[in-house]
Amino acid sequence: MAQLIDGKALSAQVLQQVAADVALLKADYDILPTLAVVLVGEDPASQVYVRNKMKRASEVGIGSREHLLDAGTTQDELAQLIATLNSDPLVHGILVQLPLPAQLDEDSVIASIHPDKDVDGFHPLNVGALAAGRDTLVPCTPQGCMIMLNQVHSNLSGKNAVVVGRSNIVGKPMAALLLQANCTVTIAHSRTQNIESLCRQADIVIAAAGRMALVDATWIKPGATVIDVGINAIEIDGKRKLVGDVAFEAVSQVAGAISPVPGGVGPMTIACLLLNTTRAVTRQLACPLEQGVGAMNTTARSD
Ligand code: NAD
Repeated sequence: MAQLIDGKALSAQVLQQVAADVALLKADYDILPTLAVVLVGEDPASQVYVRNKMKRASEVGIGSREHLLDAGTTQDELAQLIATLNSDPLVHGILVQLPLPAQLDEDSVIASIHPDKDVDGFHPLNVGALAAGRDTLVPCTPQGCMIMLNQVHSNLSGKNAVVVGRSNIVGKPMAALLLQANCTVTIAHSRTQNIESLCRQADIVIAAAGRMALVDATWIKPGATVIDVGINAIEIDGKRKLVGDVAFEAVSQVAGAISPVPGGVGPMTIACLLLNTTRAVTRQLACPLEQGVGAMNTTARSD
Protein backbone atom coordinates (compact mmCIF):
# COMPACT_ATOMS: atom_id res chain seq x y z
CA MET A 1 0.00 0.00 0.00
CA ALA A 2 1.38 3.38 -1.03
CA GLN A 3 2.49 6.04 1.42
CA LEU A 4 -0.06 8.87 1.48
CA ILE A 5 1.34 12.31 0.67
CA ASP A 6 -0.90 14.38 2.89
CA GLY A 7 -1.19 17.82 1.29
CA LYS A 8 -3.32 19.11 4.11
CA ALA A 9 -0.72 18.34 6.78
CA LEU A 10 2.19 19.44 4.62
CA SER A 11 0.48 22.71 3.68
CA ALA A 12 -0.05 23.40 7.39
CA GLN A 13 3.74 23.16 7.84
CA VAL A 14 4.34 25.53 4.92
CA LEU A 15 1.76 27.97 6.29
CA GLN A 16 3.42 27.86 9.70
CA GLN A 17 6.68 28.87 8.07
CA VAL A 18 4.95 31.61 6.09
CA ALA A 19 3.43 32.93 9.34
CA ALA A 20 6.93 32.98 10.85
CA ASP A 21 8.23 34.92 7.83
CA VAL A 22 5.32 37.37 8.09
CA ALA A 23 6.11 37.96 11.77
CA LEU A 24 9.77 38.50 10.91
CA LEU A 25 8.92 41.03 8.19
CA LYS A 26 6.74 42.87 10.68
CA ALA A 27 9.33 42.83 13.48
CA ASP A 28 12.43 43.64 11.43
CA TYR A 29 11.04 45.82 8.64
CA ASP A 30 7.60 46.96 9.85
CA ILE A 31 6.06 45.48 6.70
CA LEU A 32 2.65 43.86 6.42
CA PRO A 33 2.85 41.57 3.35
CA THR A 34 -0.32 42.30 1.39
CA LEU A 35 -2.02 40.42 -1.41
CA ALA A 36 -4.50 42.09 -3.76
CA VAL A 37 -6.99 39.67 -5.27
CA VAL A 38 -8.92 40.76 -8.34
CA LEU A 39 -12.08 38.90 -9.32
CA VAL A 40 -14.00 39.91 -12.42
CA GLY A 41 -17.56 38.64 -12.63
CA GLU A 42 -19.43 36.15 -10.48
CA ASP A 43 -18.20 32.71 -11.48
CA PRO A 44 -19.16 30.56 -8.44
CA ALA A 45 -16.01 28.39 -8.52
CA SER A 46 -13.79 31.49 -8.73
CA GLN A 47 -15.66 33.06 -5.82
CA VAL A 48 -14.93 29.97 -3.69
CA TYR A 49 -11.24 29.99 -4.70
CA VAL A 50 -10.89 33.69 -3.89
CA ARG A 51 -12.63 33.30 -0.53
CA ASN A 52 -10.34 30.38 0.41
CA LYS A 53 -7.20 32.28 -0.57
CA MET A 54 -8.18 35.32 1.46
CA LYS A 55 -9.14 33.23 4.48
CA ARG A 56 -5.78 31.45 4.48
CA ALA A 57 -3.98 34.76 3.98
CA SER A 58 -5.56 36.25 7.08
CA GLU A 59 -4.74 33.09 9.07
CA VAL A 60 -1.01 33.60 8.48
CA GLY A 61 -1.17 37.36 9.06
CA ILE A 62 -0.98 38.40 5.40
CA GLY A 63 -3.10 41.42 4.59
CA SER A 64 -5.49 41.07 1.70
CA ARG A 65 -7.49 43.40 -0.46
CA GLU A 66 -10.37 42.16 -2.49
CA HIS A 67 -11.30 43.90 -5.73
CA LEU A 68 -14.61 42.61 -7.04
CA LEU A 69 -15.31 43.92 -10.52
CA ASP A 70 -18.43 43.76 -12.59
CA ALA A 71 -18.60 41.00 -15.26
CA GLY A 72 -18.78 43.73 -17.90
CA THR A 73 -15.47 45.36 -16.87
CA THR A 74 -13.47 46.60 -19.85
CA GLN A 75 -9.83 45.92 -20.61
CA ASP A 76 -9.00 49.57 -19.86
CA GLU A 77 -10.76 49.53 -16.50
CA LEU A 78 -8.92 46.39 -15.45
CA ALA A 79 -5.62 47.78 -16.74
CA GLN A 80 -6.15 50.92 -14.68
CA LEU A 81 -6.75 48.93 -11.50
CA ILE A 82 -3.63 46.82 -12.11
CA ALA A 83 -1.56 49.95 -12.76
CA THR A 84 -2.76 51.39 -9.45
CA LEU A 85 -1.89 48.16 -7.60
CA ASN A 86 1.49 47.96 -9.37
CA SER A 87 2.47 51.36 -8.05
CA ASP A 88 1.02 50.94 -4.56
CA PRO A 89 3.97 50.28 -2.21
CA LEU A 90 1.62 48.72 0.34
CA VAL A 91 0.56 45.98 -2.10
CA HIS A 92 3.17 43.23 -2.57
CA GLY A 93 1.29 40.58 -4.52
CA ILE A 94 -1.36 40.84 -7.23
CA LEU A 95 -3.53 37.90 -8.21
CA VAL A 96 -6.08 38.16 -11.00
CA GLN A 97 -8.39 35.18 -10.66
CA LEU A 98 -8.69 33.26 -13.94
CA PRO A 99 -10.60 32.61 -16.11
CA LEU A 100 -11.60 36.13 -17.09
CA PRO A 101 -14.83 36.98 -18.94
CA ALA A 102 -14.54 36.56 -22.71
CA GLN A 103 -14.19 40.27 -23.52
CA LEU A 104 -10.90 40.47 -21.58
CA ASP A 105 -7.56 39.38 -23.02
CA GLU A 106 -5.92 37.21 -20.35
CA ASP A 107 -2.43 37.38 -21.82
CA SER A 108 -2.26 41.15 -21.79
CA VAL A 109 -3.75 41.30 -18.28
CA ILE A 110 -1.08 38.90 -17.00
CA ALA A 111 1.65 40.84 -18.81
CA SER A 112 0.47 44.09 -17.19
CA ILE A 113 1.13 42.85 -13.64
CA HIS A 114 4.51 43.96 -12.29
CA PRO A 115 6.73 40.84 -12.48
CA ASP A 116 7.86 41.31 -8.85
CA LYS A 117 4.20 41.33 -7.72
CA ASP A 118 3.24 38.39 -9.93
CA VAL A 119 2.49 35.86 -7.16
CA ASP A 120 0.98 33.42 -9.68
CA GLY A 121 4.27 33.33 -11.60
CA PHE A 122 2.46 33.68 -14.94
CA HIS A 123 4.13 36.87 -16.23
CA PRO A 124 6.22 36.17 -19.36
CA LEU A 125 9.37 37.46 -17.62
CA ASN A 126 8.88 35.03 -14.75
CA VAL A 127 8.04 32.21 -17.15
CA GLY A 128 11.27 32.94 -19.02
CA ALA A 129 13.30 33.18 -15.83
CA LEU A 130 12.00 29.78 -14.71
CA ALA A 131 12.80 28.27 -18.11
CA ALA A 132 16.32 29.71 -17.83
CA GLY A 133 16.76 28.23 -14.37
CA ARG A 134 16.89 31.55 -12.53
CA ASP A 135 15.46 32.26 -9.12
CA THR A 136 12.00 33.74 -9.68
CA LEU A 137 8.35 33.68 -8.63
CA VAL A 138 7.21 30.20 -9.62
CA PRO A 139 3.59 29.08 -10.31
CA CYS A 140 1.97 27.85 -7.12
CA THR A 141 0.63 24.43 -8.12
CA PRO A 142 3.88 22.98 -9.50
CA GLN A 143 5.78 24.56 -6.61
CA GLY A 144 3.45 22.72 -4.22
CA CYS A 145 4.05 19.48 -6.12
CA MET A 146 7.82 19.93 -5.72
CA ILE A 147 7.48 20.34 -1.96
CA MET A 148 5.39 17.15 -1.91
CA LEU A 149 7.99 15.27 -3.95
CA ASN A 150 10.74 16.49 -1.64
CA GLN A 151 8.87 14.85 1.23
CA VAL A 152 9.23 11.47 -0.44
CA HIS A 153 12.58 11.79 -2.19
CA SER A 154 15.63 13.25 -0.49
CA ASN A 155 17.19 13.58 -3.94
CA LEU A 156 15.30 13.79 -7.22
CA SER A 157 18.44 13.76 -9.35
CA GLY A 158 18.32 11.24 -12.18
CA LYS A 159 14.70 10.22 -11.58
CA ASN A 160 12.50 9.58 -14.61
CA ALA A 161 9.51 11.91 -14.40
CA VAL A 162 6.46 12.03 -16.66
CA VAL A 163 4.21 15.09 -16.52
CA VAL A 164 0.78 14.40 -18.02
CA GLY A 165 -0.49 17.78 -19.24
CA ARG A 166 1.27 20.72 -20.88
CA SER A 167 -0.67 23.79 -19.72
CA ASN A 168 1.11 27.03 -18.94
CA ILE A 169 -0.09 27.00 -15.36
CA VAL A 170 0.71 23.41 -14.41
CA GLY A 171 2.34 21.07 -16.94
CA LYS A 172 5.06 23.29 -18.43
CA PRO A 173 6.28 24.93 -15.19
CA MET A 174 6.11 21.51 -13.49
CA ALA A 175 8.40 20.08 -16.15
CA ALA A 176 10.78 23.05 -15.77
CA LEU A 177 11.03 22.54 -12.00
CA LEU A 178 11.62 18.81 -12.34
CA LEU A 179 14.33 19.51 -14.90
CA GLN A 180 15.99 21.95 -12.51
CA ALA A 181 15.92 19.21 -9.89
CA ASN A 182 17.89 17.13 -12.41
CA CYS A 183 15.10 14.72 -13.30
CA THR A 184 14.81 13.27 -16.79
CA VAL A 185 11.52 14.76 -17.86
CA THR A 186 8.90 13.70 -20.39
CA ILE A 187 5.86 15.88 -21.04
CA ALA A 188 2.85 13.89 -22.20
CA HIS A 189 -0.35 15.45 -23.50
CA SER A 190 -3.55 14.73 -25.39
CA ARG A 191 -1.67 13.81 -28.60
CA THR A 192 0.99 11.65 -26.96
CA GLN A 193 1.16 8.09 -28.21
CA ASN A 194 1.83 5.14 -25.92
CA ILE A 195 1.29 7.31 -22.87
CA GLU A 196 0.76 4.27 -20.65
CA SER A 197 4.12 2.74 -21.46
CA LEU A 198 5.83 6.12 -21.01
CA CYS A 199 4.28 6.44 -17.56
CA ARG A 200 5.16 2.84 -16.70
CA GLN A 201 8.85 3.72 -17.03
CA ALA A 202 8.54 6.68 -14.68
CA ASP A 203 9.73 6.96 -11.09
CA ILE A 204 7.45 10.01 -10.78
CA VAL A 205 4.12 10.62 -12.49
CA ILE A 206 2.43 14.02 -12.25
CA ALA A 207 -1.16 13.79 -13.48
CA ALA A 208 -2.47 17.18 -14.62
CA ALA A 209 -4.86 16.51 -17.48
CA GLY A 210 -8.25 17.22 -15.92
CA ARG A 211 -9.54 13.75 -16.91
CA MET A 212 -11.10 11.64 -14.21
CA ALA A 213 -9.45 8.24 -13.61
CA LEU A 214 -7.14 8.72 -16.61
CA VAL A 215 -4.17 7.20 -14.80
CA ASP A 216 -4.88 3.68 -13.62
CA ALA A 217 -2.78 1.01 -11.98
CA THR A 218 -1.52 -0.46 -15.27
CA TRP A 219 0.20 2.90 -16.00
CA ILE A 220 2.29 2.84 -12.86
CA LYS A 221 5.64 1.19 -12.14
CA PRO A 222 5.62 -0.55 -8.75
CA GLY A 223 6.97 1.85 -6.12
CA ALA A 224 6.60 5.00 -8.25
CA THR A 225 5.50 8.32 -6.76
CA VAL A 226 2.21 9.67 -8.12
CA ILE A 227 1.06 13.26 -7.66
CA ASP A 228 -2.53 13.93 -8.67
CA VAL A 229 -3.13 17.54 -9.70
CA GLY A 230 -6.48 16.96 -11.38
CA ILE A 231 -9.73 18.31 -10.00
CA ASN A 232 -12.86 16.85 -11.55
CA ALA A 233 -16.33 17.39 -10.15
CA ILE A 234 -18.66 14.40 -10.27
CA GLU A 235 -22.06 13.65 -8.81
CA ILE A 236 -22.68 10.56 -6.72
CA ASP A 237 -26.19 9.99 -5.34
CA GLY A 238 -27.01 13.62 -6.04
CA LYS A 239 -23.95 14.80 -4.09
CA ARG A 240 -21.11 16.75 -5.68
CA LYS A 241 -17.70 15.20 -5.15
CA LEU A 242 -14.20 16.14 -6.29
CA VAL A 243 -11.90 13.50 -7.74
CA GLY A 244 -8.49 13.64 -9.36
CA ASP A 245 -7.02 12.24 -12.58
CA VAL A 246 -5.75 9.10 -10.86
CA ALA A 247 -7.77 5.97 -10.04
CA PHE A 248 -6.77 6.37 -6.41
CA GLU A 249 -7.72 3.00 -4.91
CA ALA A 250 -6.17 0.90 -7.68
CA VAL A 251 -3.02 3.02 -8.06
CA SER A 252 -2.46 2.98 -4.27
CA GLN A 253 -1.91 -0.78 -4.52
CA VAL A 254 1.01 -0.30 -6.93
CA ALA A 255 2.58 3.10 -6.24
CA GLY A 256 5.15 3.78 -3.54
CA ALA A 257 3.59 7.12 -2.65
CA ILE A 258 0.46 8.93 -3.81
CA SER A 259 -1.31 12.21 -3.16
CA PRO A 260 -5.09 12.19 -2.69
CA VAL A 261 -7.82 14.46 -4.11
CA PRO A 262 -9.08 16.32 -2.19
CA GLY A 263 -6.44 16.97 0.46
CA GLY A 264 -3.42 16.80 -1.83
CA VAL A 265 -2.19 19.40 -4.29
CA GLY A 266 -5.11 21.79 -3.65
CA PRO A 267 -4.07 22.95 -0.16
CA MET A 268 -0.42 23.06 -1.27
CA THR A 269 -1.33 25.48 -4.06
CA ILE A 270 -2.85 28.00 -1.66
CA ALA A 271 0.07 27.64 0.76
CA CYS A 272 2.50 28.35 -2.10
CA LEU A 273 0.52 31.44 -3.10
CA LEU A 274 1.12 32.85 0.36
CA LEU A 275 4.73 31.71 0.26
CA ASN A 276 5.06 33.63 -3.02
CA THR A 277 3.55 36.70 -1.36
CA THR A 278 6.33 36.81 1.23
CA ARG A 279 8.87 36.10 -1.52
CA ALA A 280 7.41 38.99 -3.50
CA VAL A 281 8.08 41.27 -0.51
CA THR A 282 11.70 40.20 -0.40
CA ARG A 283 12.07 40.82 -4.14
CA GLN A 284 10.60 44.31 -3.91
CA LEU A 285 12.45 45.42 -0.82
CA ALA A 286 15.62 43.36 -1.10
CA CYS A 287 15.21 42.21 2.51
CA PRO A 288 16.33 38.59 2.67
CA LEU A 289 14.46 36.16 4.88
CA GLU A 290 17.28 34.15 6.30
CA GLN A 291 15.05 31.73 8.15
CA GLY A 292 11.93 29.90 7.20
CA VAL A 293 10.60 29.00 3.81
CA GLY A 294 11.50 32.42 2.45
CA ALA A 295 15.01 31.04 2.20
CA MET A 296 13.84 27.72 0.76
CA ASN A 297 14.98 27.29 -2.80
CA THR A 298 12.70 25.20 -4.98
CA THR A 299 14.45 26.18 -8.17
CA ALA A 300 17.97 24.95 -7.47
CA ARG A 301 19.94 23.46 -10.31
CA SER A 302 23.42 22.11 -10.72
CA ASP A 303 24.95 21.00 -13.96
P1 NAD B 1 -5.70 22.39 -19.09
O1 NAD B 1 -7.03 21.96 -19.57
O2 NAD B 1 -5.21 23.74 -19.40
O3 NAD B 1 -4.61 21.36 -19.62
C1 NAD B 1 -4.84 19.99 -19.63
C2 NAD B 1 -3.68 19.30 -20.27
O4 NAD B 1 -3.92 17.89 -20.23
C3 NAD B 1 -3.48 19.66 -21.74
O5 NAD B 1 -2.13 19.98 -21.95
C4 NAD B 1 -3.88 18.41 -22.52
O6 NAD B 1 -3.04 18.19 -23.65
C5 NAD B 1 -3.67 17.32 -21.49
N1 NAD B 1 -4.63 16.21 -21.68
C6 NAD B 1 -5.96 16.30 -21.81
N2 NAD B 1 -6.48 15.07 -21.99
C7 NAD B 1 -5.47 14.20 -21.98
C8 NAD B 1 -5.38 12.81 -22.13
N3 NAD B 1 -6.45 12.05 -22.31
N4 NAD B 1 -4.16 12.25 -22.06
C9 NAD B 1 -3.06 13.00 -21.86
N5 NAD B 1 -3.09 14.34 -21.72
C10 NAD B 1 -4.28 14.94 -21.78
O7 NAD B 1 -5.72 22.13 -17.52
P2 NAD B 1 -4.79 22.69 -16.35
O8 NAD B 1 -5.16 24.06 -16.05
O9 NAD B 1 -3.37 22.34 -16.61
O10 NAD B 1 -5.30 21.77 -15.15
C11 NAD B 1 -5.20 20.37 -15.20
C12 NAD B 1 -6.01 19.80 -14.06
O11 NAD B 1 -5.45 20.22 -12.83
C13 NAD B 1 -7.47 20.24 -14.03
O12 NAD B 1 -8.26 19.19 -13.52
C14 NAD B 1 -7.46 21.39 -13.05
O13 NAD B 1 -8.71 21.57 -12.42
C15 NAD B 1 -6.44 20.91 -12.08
N6 NAD B 1 -5.74 21.97 -11.33
C16 NAD B 1 -5.62 21.79 -10.01
C17 NAD B 1 -4.98 22.73 -9.26
C18 NAD B 1 -4.84 22.52 -7.78
O14 NAD B 1 -4.55 23.45 -7.07
N7 NAD B 1 -5.01 21.31 -7.31
C19 NAD B 1 -4.44 23.87 -9.86
C20 NAD B 1 -4.54 24.01 -11.23
C21 NAD B 1 -5.19 23.04 -11.96
